Amino acid sequence: MGLISDRLARLAPSPTVAITDMAMNMRRAGRDVIGLGAGEPDFDTPDHIKQAAIAAMRDGKTKYTQVDGIPELKEAICRKFARENNIQSTPDMISVGTGGKQVLFNALMASLNPGDEVVIPVPYWVSFAGIVQLAEAVPVFLRPASKTLKFTPDELAACITDKTKWLILNSPSNPGGVGYMAADLMAIAKVLRQHPQVYVICDDIYEHLTYGDFTFATLAAVAPDLQGRVVTLNGVSKSYCMTGWRIGYCAAPPDLVKAMAKVQSQSTSSPNSIAQWAALAALDGPIDFIADHCRAFAVRRRLVCDALNAMPGISCAEPDGAFYVYPSISGLIGKTRPDGQVIETDADFVRYLLEAGEVAVVPGIAFGLSPYFRISYAASDAVLKEAMSRIGRIVDNLT
Ligand SMILES: *Cc1c(COP(=O)(O)O)cnc(C)c1O
Repeated sequence: MGLISDRLARLAPSPTVAITDMAMNMRRAGRDVIGLGAGEPDFDTPDHIKQAAIAAMRDGKTKYTQVDGIPELKEAICRKFARENNIQSTPDMISVGTGGKQVLFNALMASLNPGDEVVIPVPYWVSFAGIVQLAEAVPVFLRPASKTLKFTPDELAACITDKTKWLILNSPSNPGGVGYMAADLMAIAKVLRQHPQVYVICDDIYEHLTYGDFTFATLAAVAPDLQGRVVTLNGVSKSYCMTGWRIGYCAAPPDLVKAMAKVQSQSTSSPNSIAQWAALAALDGPIDFIADHCRAFAVRRRLVCDALNAMPGISCAEPDGAFYVYPSISGLIGKTRPDGQVIETDADFVRYLLEAGEVAVVPGIAFGLSPYFRISYAASDAVLKEAMSRIGRIVDNLT
Protein backbone atom coordinates (compact mmCIF):
# COMPACT_ATOMS: atom_id res chain seq x y z
CA MET A 1 0.00 0.00 0.00
CA GLY A 2 1.64 3.25 -1.14
CA LEU A 3 1.30 6.61 0.55
CA ILE A 4 -0.59 8.30 -2.28
CA SER A 5 -4.26 7.48 -2.88
CA ASP A 6 -5.47 5.82 -6.07
CA ARG A 7 -7.67 8.87 -6.59
CA LEU A 8 -4.61 11.14 -6.72
CA ALA A 9 -2.51 8.67 -8.68
CA ARG A 10 -5.15 8.74 -11.45
CA LEU A 11 -4.99 12.53 -11.62
CA ALA A 12 -2.64 13.75 -14.36
CA PRO A 13 -0.04 16.25 -13.16
CA SER A 14 -0.62 19.76 -14.48
CA PRO A 15 1.17 20.14 -17.83
CA THR A 16 1.92 23.75 -16.95
CA VAL A 17 4.15 22.90 -14.01
CA ALA A 18 7.24 22.04 -16.08
CA ILE A 19 7.09 25.29 -18.03
CA THR A 20 6.40 27.40 -14.93
CA ASP A 21 9.37 25.79 -13.16
CA MET A 22 11.59 26.49 -16.13
CA ALA A 23 10.49 30.15 -16.27
CA MET A 24 11.15 30.56 -12.54
CA ASN A 25 14.61 29.00 -12.80
CA MET A 26 15.51 31.26 -15.72
CA ARG A 27 14.38 34.34 -13.78
CA ARG A 28 16.41 33.26 -10.78
CA ALA A 29 19.40 32.95 -13.09
CA GLY A 30 18.93 36.62 -14.00
CA ARG A 31 17.24 36.20 -17.39
CA ASP A 32 14.62 38.70 -18.48
CA VAL A 33 11.61 36.40 -18.91
CA ILE A 34 8.26 37.97 -19.87
CA GLY A 35 5.51 35.98 -18.16
CA LEU A 36 2.22 35.88 -20.06
CA GLY A 37 1.02 32.74 -18.33
CA ALA A 38 -0.85 34.18 -15.35
CA GLY A 39 -4.64 34.10 -15.31
CA GLU A 40 -5.33 37.28 -13.38
CA PRO A 41 -5.91 40.98 -14.05
CA ASP A 42 -2.80 43.14 -13.60
CA PHE A 43 -4.88 46.01 -12.08
CA ASP A 44 -4.94 46.59 -8.33
CA THR A 45 -8.03 46.02 -6.16
CA PRO A 46 -10.02 49.31 -6.05
CA ASP A 47 -9.45 51.34 -2.91
CA HIS A 48 -13.08 51.42 -1.69
CA ILE A 49 -12.93 47.61 -1.48
CA LYS A 50 -9.67 47.66 0.50
CA GLN A 51 -11.18 50.26 2.84
CA ALA A 52 -14.14 47.95 3.51
CA ALA A 53 -11.70 45.21 4.52
CA ILE A 54 -9.83 47.58 6.84
CA ALA A 55 -13.13 48.65 8.42
CA ALA A 56 -14.15 45.00 8.88
CA MET A 57 -10.89 44.27 10.71
CA ARG A 58 -11.29 47.37 12.92
CA ASP A 59 -14.87 46.32 13.75
CA GLY A 60 -13.69 42.90 14.89
CA LYS A 61 -15.29 41.02 12.01
CA THR A 62 -12.43 38.57 12.32
CA LYS A 63 -14.14 35.41 13.57
CA TYR A 64 -15.54 32.26 11.94
CA THR A 65 -18.66 33.04 9.92
CA GLN A 66 -21.63 31.00 8.73
CA VAL A 67 -20.28 28.04 6.74
CA ASP A 68 -21.37 29.18 3.28
CA GLY A 69 -21.33 32.95 3.73
CA ILE A 70 -22.57 35.78 5.91
CA PRO A 71 -26.25 36.64 5.37
CA GLU A 72 -25.37 40.25 4.43
CA LEU A 73 -23.17 39.02 1.55
CA LYS A 74 -25.76 36.47 0.41
CA GLU A 75 -28.33 39.26 0.21
CA ALA A 76 -25.92 41.42 -1.81
CA ILE A 77 -25.37 38.47 -4.17
CA CYS A 78 -29.15 38.09 -4.64
CA ARG A 79 -29.28 41.82 -5.49
CA LYS A 80 -26.40 41.40 -7.93
CA PHE A 81 -28.08 38.48 -9.71
CA ALA A 82 -31.35 40.43 -9.98
CA ARG A 83 -29.73 43.70 -11.08
CA GLU A 84 -27.06 42.45 -13.49
CA ASN A 85 -28.34 39.09 -14.68
CA ASN A 86 -32.12 39.15 -14.31
CA ILE A 87 -31.93 36.01 -12.15
CA GLN A 88 -34.34 35.90 -9.20
CA SER A 89 -32.90 34.19 -6.14
CA THR A 90 -33.25 33.95 -2.36
CA PRO A 91 -30.42 33.51 0.21
CA ASP A 92 -31.13 29.75 0.53
CA MET A 93 -30.05 29.47 -3.13
CA ILE A 94 -26.71 31.20 -2.53
CA SER A 95 -23.39 29.59 -1.57
CA VAL A 96 -20.17 31.53 -0.92
CA GLY A 97 -16.78 29.82 -0.98
CA THR A 98 -13.06 30.42 -1.03
CA GLY A 99 -12.96 31.50 -4.67
CA GLY A 100 -15.09 30.39 -7.58
CA LYS A 101 -12.84 27.35 -7.72
CA GLN A 102 -13.92 26.12 -4.28
CA VAL A 103 -17.57 26.74 -5.12
CA LEU A 104 -17.11 24.60 -8.24
CA PHE A 105 -15.27 21.97 -6.19
CA ASN A 106 -18.08 21.90 -3.61
CA ALA A 107 -20.80 21.61 -6.28
CA LEU A 108 -19.05 18.72 -8.06
CA MET A 109 -18.06 16.91 -4.83
CA ALA A 110 -21.61 17.24 -3.52
CA SER A 111 -23.23 15.85 -6.66
CA LEU A 112 -21.00 13.41 -8.55
CA ASN A 113 -20.91 9.66 -8.07
CA PRO A 114 -18.07 7.56 -9.49
CA GLY A 115 -18.70 7.00 -13.19
CA ASP A 116 -21.00 9.99 -13.69
CA GLU A 117 -20.17 11.95 -16.83
CA VAL A 118 -19.50 15.66 -17.10
CA VAL A 119 -19.52 17.32 -20.52
CA ILE A 120 -16.66 19.83 -20.80
CA PRO A 121 -16.24 21.87 -24.00
CA VAL A 122 -12.62 22.19 -25.17
CA PRO A 123 -10.44 24.11 -24.81
CA TYR A 124 -11.30 24.11 -21.10
CA TRP A 125 -10.12 25.70 -17.87
CA VAL A 126 -7.75 23.12 -16.38
CA SER A 127 -9.66 22.83 -13.09
CA PHE A 128 -12.87 21.64 -14.76
CA ALA A 129 -11.28 18.34 -15.74
CA GLY A 130 -9.12 18.09 -12.62
CA ILE A 131 -11.99 18.45 -10.15
CA VAL A 132 -14.21 16.05 -12.09
CA GLN A 133 -11.40 13.47 -11.92
CA LEU A 134 -10.89 14.09 -8.20
CA ALA A 135 -14.59 13.35 -7.75
CA GLU A 136 -13.99 10.02 -9.56
CA ALA A 137 -16.32 11.03 -12.35
CA VAL A 138 -15.59 11.02 -16.08
CA PRO A 139 -14.91 14.16 -18.13
CA VAL A 140 -16.45 13.91 -21.62
CA PHE A 141 -14.74 16.40 -23.90
CA LEU A 142 -16.91 18.28 -26.35
CA ARG A 143 -14.68 19.13 -29.32
CA PRO A 144 -16.06 21.90 -31.53
CA ALA A 145 -15.34 21.47 -35.24
CA SER A 146 -15.47 25.22 -35.87
CA LYS A 147 -12.29 27.29 -35.98
CA THR A 148 -14.12 29.78 -33.74
CA LEU A 149 -13.88 27.09 -30.99
CA LYS A 150 -17.63 27.46 -30.44
CA PHE A 151 -19.64 24.24 -30.12
CA THR A 152 -22.99 23.75 -31.83
CA PRO A 153 -26.17 22.40 -30.20
CA ASP A 154 -25.80 19.21 -32.29
CA GLU A 155 -22.25 18.70 -31.07
CA LEU A 156 -23.50 19.09 -27.51
CA ALA A 157 -26.37 16.64 -28.07
CA ALA A 158 -23.91 14.04 -29.41
CA CYS A 159 -21.96 14.11 -26.10
CA ILE A 160 -24.95 13.51 -23.82
CA THR A 161 -25.62 9.98 -22.54
CA ASP A 162 -27.85 8.66 -19.77
CA LYS A 163 -24.82 8.96 -17.47
CA THR A 164 -24.41 12.71 -18.09
CA LYS A 165 -24.83 14.64 -14.85
CA TRP A 166 -23.42 18.06 -15.75
CA LEU A 167 -22.54 20.32 -18.63
CA ILE A 168 -19.96 22.95 -17.69
CA LEU A 169 -20.54 26.07 -19.75
CA ASN A 170 -17.92 28.82 -19.36
CA SER A 171 -18.79 31.96 -21.33
CA PRO A 172 -16.77 34.00 -22.09
CA SER A 173 -14.30 31.20 -21.73
CA ASN A 174 -10.81 30.70 -20.44
CA PRO A 175 -8.67 30.03 -22.50
CA GLY A 176 -10.58 30.50 -25.79
CA GLY A 177 -12.37 33.76 -25.01
CA VAL A 178 -15.41 32.09 -26.61
CA GLY A 179 -18.77 33.63 -25.74
CA TYR A 180 -22.33 32.35 -26.15
CA MET A 181 -24.96 35.06 -26.61
CA ALA A 182 -28.66 34.82 -25.71
CA ALA A 183 -29.61 33.20 -29.05
CA ASP A 184 -26.86 30.57 -28.64
CA LEU A 185 -28.01 29.83 -25.10
CA MET A 186 -31.61 29.42 -26.26
CA ALA A 187 -30.47 26.78 -28.74
CA ILE A 188 -28.46 25.05 -26.00
CA ALA A 189 -31.55 25.20 -23.71
CA LYS A 190 -33.53 23.38 -26.41
CA VAL A 191 -31.08 20.45 -26.26
CA LEU A 192 -31.12 20.46 -22.45
CA ARG A 193 -34.93 20.28 -22.32
CA GLN A 194 -34.67 16.91 -24.09
CA HIS A 195 -32.35 15.60 -21.34
CA PRO A 196 -33.94 16.30 -17.96
CA GLN A 197 -31.16 14.42 -16.10
CA VAL A 198 -28.52 16.98 -17.13
CA TYR A 199 -27.60 19.85 -14.81
CA VAL A 200 -25.54 22.84 -15.94
CA ILE A 201 -22.79 24.86 -14.31
CA CYS A 202 -22.59 28.29 -15.95
CA ASP A 203 -19.21 29.74 -15.11
CA ASP A 204 -19.82 33.47 -15.61
CA ILE A 205 -16.60 34.69 -13.97
CA TYR A 206 -15.68 36.80 -17.07
CA GLU A 207 -19.16 38.33 -17.58
CA HIS A 208 -17.94 41.93 -17.32
CA LEU A 209 -14.83 41.54 -19.47
CA THR A 210 -16.33 41.48 -22.98
CA TYR A 211 -15.44 43.17 -26.27
CA GLY A 212 -16.82 44.23 -29.64
CA ASP A 213 -20.33 43.12 -30.52
CA PHE A 214 -20.53 40.45 -27.85
CA THR A 215 -23.34 40.86 -25.32
CA PHE A 216 -23.17 38.71 -22.21
CA ALA A 217 -26.13 36.49 -21.28
CA THR A 218 -26.56 33.61 -18.87
CA LEU A 219 -28.63 30.44 -19.16
CA ALA A 220 -30.76 30.79 -15.99
CA ALA A 221 -32.01 34.16 -17.24
CA VAL A 222 -32.46 33.15 -20.89
CA ALA A 223 -34.26 29.90 -19.99
CA PRO A 224 -35.89 30.47 -16.58
CA ASP A 225 -37.69 27.10 -16.89
CA LEU A 226 -34.26 25.46 -16.49
CA GLN A 227 -33.19 27.49 -13.44
CA GLY A 228 -33.83 24.53 -11.12
CA ARG A 229 -31.08 22.64 -12.97
CA VAL A 230 -28.57 25.46 -13.23
CA VAL A 231 -25.69 26.55 -11.00
CA THR A 232 -24.75 30.12 -11.90
CA LEU A 233 -21.14 30.43 -10.77
CA ASN A 234 -19.38 33.74 -10.30
CA GLY A 235 -16.94 35.54 -8.05
CA VAL A 236 -15.12 38.80 -7.43
CA SER A 237 -11.66 37.63 -8.62
CA LYS A 238 -11.73 38.77 -12.23
CA SER A 239 -14.26 41.64 -12.39
CA TYR A 240 -13.00 43.37 -9.24
CA CYS A 241 -9.29 42.43 -9.46
CA MET A 242 -9.57 40.41 -6.26
CA THR A 243 -7.90 37.11 -7.16
CA GLY A 244 -6.00 36.98 -3.87
CA TRP A 245 -9.01 37.67 -1.67
CA ARG A 246 -10.52 34.28 -2.55
CA ILE A 247 -14.28 34.89 -2.69
CA GLY A 248 -16.56 33.15 -5.16
CA TYR A 249 -20.27 32.38 -5.08
CA CYS A 250 -23.15 30.76 -6.92
CA ALA A 251 -26.91 30.62 -7.23
CA ALA A 252 -28.06 26.98 -7.21
CA PRO A 253 -30.98 24.74 -6.24
CA PRO A 254 -31.36 24.91 -2.41
CA ASP A 255 -30.79 21.16 -1.90
CA LEU A 256 -27.44 21.41 -3.68
CA VAL A 257 -26.55 24.54 -1.68
CA LYS A 258 -27.11 22.56 1.55
CA ALA A 259 -24.97 19.67 0.35
CA MET A 260 -22.22 22.08 -0.74
CA ALA A 261 -22.22 23.61 2.75
CA LYS A 262 -21.60 20.11 4.13
CA VAL A 263 -18.49 19.76 1.93
CA GLN A 264 -17.28 23.21 2.95
CA SER A 265 -17.95 22.57 6.66
CA GLN A 266 -15.53 19.64 6.52
CA SER A 267 -12.84 21.47 4.57
CA THR A 268 -12.42 25.25 5.02
CA SER A 269 -15.28 25.87 7.57
CA SER A 270 -16.11 29.21 5.97
CA PRO A 271 -14.69 31.73 3.55
CA ASN A 272 -12.40 34.40 5.03
CA SER A 273 -14.50 36.80 7.14
CA ILE A 274 -12.68 40.00 6.11
CA ALA A 275 -12.73 39.12 2.42
CA GLN A 276 -16.49 38.50 2.64
CA TRP A 277 -17.07 42.06 3.89
CA ALA A 278 -14.80 43.35 1.13
CA ALA A 279 -16.73 41.34 -1.47
CA LEU A 280 -19.97 42.84 -0.15
CA ALA A 281 -18.53 46.34 -0.70
CA ALA A 282 -17.44 45.29 -4.20
CA LEU A 283 -20.86 43.96 -5.23
CA ASP A 284 -22.81 46.89 -3.75
CA GLY A 285 -20.27 49.47 -4.95
CA PRO A 286 -19.60 51.30 -8.23
CA ILE A 287 -18.57 49.31 -11.32
CA ASP A 288 -17.54 52.16 -13.64
CA PHE A 289 -13.85 51.21 -13.18
CA ILE A 290 -14.60 47.88 -14.89
CA ALA A 291 -15.41 49.76 -18.11
CA ASP A 292 -11.98 51.44 -17.91
CA HIS A 293 -10.34 48.04 -17.50
CA CYS A 294 -12.30 46.70 -20.48
CA ARG A 295 -11.14 49.59 -22.65
CA ALA A 296 -7.52 48.86 -21.69
CA PHE A 297 -8.00 45.14 -22.31
CA ALA A 298 -9.65 45.85 -25.69
CA VAL A 299 -6.57 47.81 -26.85
CA ARG A 300 -4.28 44.99 -25.73
CA ARG A 301 -6.46 42.37 -27.40
CA ARG A 302 -6.24 44.27 -30.69
CA LEU A 303 -2.47 44.64 -30.32
CA VAL A 304 -1.91 40.94 -29.57
CA CYS A 305 -4.36 39.54 -32.17
CA ASP A 306 -3.02 41.76 -34.96
CA ALA A 307 0.61 40.94 -34.13
CA LEU A 308 -0.03 37.19 -33.95
CA ASN A 309 -2.13 37.05 -37.11
CA ALA A 310 0.69 38.79 -39.01
CA MET A 311 3.08 35.94 -38.12
CA PRO A 312 3.39 33.08 -40.65
CA GLY A 313 2.05 29.79 -39.23
CA ILE A 314 0.03 31.42 -36.42
CA SER A 315 -3.66 32.26 -36.57
CA CYS A 316 -5.71 33.70 -33.83
CA ALA A 317 -9.52 34.02 -33.50
CA GLU A 318 -10.85 37.24 -31.95
CA PRO A 319 -11.90 36.50 -28.37
CA ASP A 320 -15.35 37.72 -27.24
CA GLY A 321 -14.22 38.20 -23.66
CA ALA A 322 -11.82 37.42 -20.77
CA PHE A 323 -8.15 38.43 -21.21
CA TYR A 324 -6.63 35.57 -23.16
CA VAL A 325 -5.93 34.75 -26.78
CA TYR A 326 -5.65 31.16 -27.92
CA PRO A 327 -3.79 31.12 -31.24
CA SER A 328 -3.40 28.03 -33.39
CA ILE A 329 0.16 27.12 -34.36
CA SER A 330 -0.76 24.32 -36.76
CA GLY A 331 1.35 26.12 -39.39
CA LEU A 332 4.46 25.76 -37.23
CA ILE A 333 4.24 22.05 -36.48
CA GLY A 334 6.97 20.14 -38.32
CA LYS A 335 9.25 23.18 -38.60
CA THR A 336 12.87 23.06 -37.48
CA ARG A 337 14.68 25.17 -34.88
CA PRO A 338 18.08 26.65 -35.74
CA ASP A 339 19.66 23.90 -33.56
CA GLY A 340 18.02 21.20 -35.68
CA GLN A 341 15.28 20.16 -33.25
CA VAL A 342 11.83 19.74 -34.78
CA ILE A 343 8.72 21.41 -33.32
CA GLU A 344 6.32 18.46 -33.04
CA THR A 345 3.85 19.71 -30.42
CA ASP A 346 2.63 22.94 -28.85
CA ALA A 347 4.64 22.00 -25.75
CA ASP A 348 7.79 21.92 -27.98
CA PHE A 349 6.97 25.38 -29.33
CA VAL A 350 6.29 26.81 -25.89
CA ARG A 351 9.57 25.39 -24.54
CA TYR A 352 11.48 26.84 -27.50
CA LEU A 353 9.76 30.22 -27.06
CA LEU A 354 10.82 30.27 -23.42
CA GLU A 355 14.40 29.10 -23.99
CA ALA A 356 15.20 31.22 -27.02
CA GLY A 357 12.68 34.06 -26.80
CA GLU A 358 12.31 34.43 -23.02
CA VAL A 359 8.50 34.59 -23.20
CA ALA A 360 6.46 32.26 -20.96
CA VAL A 361 3.03 31.14 -22.23
CA VAL A 362 0.92 28.01 -21.62
CA PRO A 363 0.79 25.15 -24.17
CA GLY A 364 -2.63 24.13 -25.54
CA ILE A 365 -2.17 20.58 -24.26
CA ALA A 366 -2.94 21.98 -20.80
CA PHE A 367 -6.41 23.01 -21.99
CA GLY A 368 -7.21 19.88 -23.98
CA LEU A 369 -6.79 21.34 -27.47
CA SER A 370 -3.58 21.25 -29.54
CA PRO A 371 -1.64 22.66 -31.30
CA TYR A 372 -2.40 26.00 -29.67
CA PHE A 373 -1.02 28.14 -26.88
CA ARG A 374 -2.55 30.62 -24.45
CA ILE A 375 -1.37 34.17 -23.93
CA SER A 376 -2.76 36.21 -21.08
CA TYR A 377 -2.83 39.86 -22.18
CA ALA A 378 -3.26 41.14 -18.64
CA ALA A 379 0.05 43.01 -18.98
CA SER A 380 1.05 46.54 -20.02
CA ASP A 381 1.04 47.57 -23.70
CA ALA A 382 4.84 47.98 -23.57
CA VAL A 383 5.37 44.47 -22.20
CA LEU A 384 2.95 43.01 -24.76
CA LYS A 385 4.69 44.81 -27.65
CA GLU A 386 8.06 43.49 -26.54
CA ALA A 387 6.61 39.98 -26.16
CA MET A 388 5.11 40.13 -29.67
CA SER A 389 8.41 41.17 -31.19
CA ARG A 390 10.17 38.30 -29.37
CA ILE A 391 7.57 35.79 -30.58
CA GLY A 392 7.88 37.18 -34.12
CA ARG A 393 11.65 36.71 -34.03
CA ILE A 394 11.33 33.13 -32.75
CA VAL A 395 8.82 32.24 -35.48
CA ASP A 396 11.09 33.77 -38.16
CA ASN A 397 13.94 31.54 -36.96
CA LEU A 398 11.99 28.36 -37.77
CA THR A 399 12.53 26.76 -41.14
C1 LIG B 1 -10.27 32.51 -12.63
C2 LIG B 1 -11.38 31.57 -12.99
C3 LIG B 1 -12.35 31.16 -12.06
C4 LIG B 1 -12.43 31.57 -10.62
O1 LIG B 1 -11.32 31.73 -9.92
P1 LIG B 1 -11.37 32.07 -8.37
O2 LIG B 1 -10.22 32.98 -8.20
O3 LIG B 1 -11.24 30.77 -7.66
O4 LIG B 1 -12.68 32.75 -8.05
C5 LIG B 1 -13.36 30.34 -12.48
N1 LIG B 1 -13.44 29.91 -13.76
C6 LIG B 1 -12.54 30.28 -14.66
C7 LIG B 1 -12.72 29.79 -16.04
C8 LIG B 1 -11.47 31.10 -14.32
O5 LIG B 1 -10.58 31.44 -15.27
